[in-house]
Amino acid sequence: MPEIVEIEILRKEVIDQLSGKTINEVIINKESLLNMSGEEFSPLIVGNRIVNARRKGKVLVIDLSNDVSLAIHFLLTGFMRLVEKCDQDKVQVGFIFDDGKCLAIKGIMRGGFVKALDSAKVFEDPTLKKLGIDAMSPAFTKDELKKILIKNGKKKIKQVLMDQSIISGIGNAYSDEILFKAGILPMRKASSLNGNEIDNLYKSFGEVFRTAEKYGGASELTFVHLDGKKGEAHKHFFVHKRAGKPCLVCGTPIQATKIGGRSAYFCPHCQK
Ligand SMILES: [Zn+2]
Repeated sequence: MPEIVEIEILRKEVIDQLSGKTINEVIINKESLLNMSGEEFSPLIVGNRIVNARRKGKVLVIDLSNDVSLAIHFLLTGFMRLVEKCDQDKVQVGFIFDDGKCLAIKGIMRGGFVKALDSAKVFEDPTLKKLGIDAMSPAFTKDELKKILIKNGKKKIKQVLMDQSIISGIGNAYSDEILFKAGILPMRKASSLNGNEIDNLYKSFGEVFRTAEKYGGASELTFVHLDGKKGEAHKHFFVHKRAGKPCLVCGTPIQATKIGGRSAYFCPHCQK
């Protein structure tokens, strides 16, 4: 968390709420998140307007009017809020707009980033270049999924869904929910899925994403909307972090296991 749904929510909110705003000042308290020094970073940003927002996987890209883009990776615990006034000492990176409001970034752990990149070459940056196909992109078709499952046939299906270099955007929570919705056990080999199961799996991506977005995304960790509001989607999860609790469909206790070092949650009755 945040995963694809939460970053997509932020992307839309940046377009709706921040488009046209000019950044007057940058606050940098955590220079290690940047891809350059603060002295180099600030002049690339200051004086420019936000014109668009894009996303690949879990990386948010905010485009500025000077063809510079901010690429932000929040990892597990990072978050971003639009506040009336920046808490100068407490933000990791803050962007103060011409109306005085501040886009405050906090909580990003080592490995996450706030990069200033050439807008035309954002996805050529090494960290973004290695991302696999975005799970919400129109290019992610059922045929594409089939190819992915064949190519990664020996891997466990949950690992395939979570591997950002194969499919980008899905993490621990949504992989659990997608596999539950599709009725597929997380430890199954990718090559073991039959045609019907692949159909169900493909449909489940969209259904799980749409439901989670309807509930405002999941705030089981630190994710909040730009206005600070929490999402409710985690309260409607069927299996993720529900070990021992009854399956909402059949009543069987939800089980947890480790797959690739991560916890996987599933219903042993609904998932085959
Ligand atoms: Zn069940």
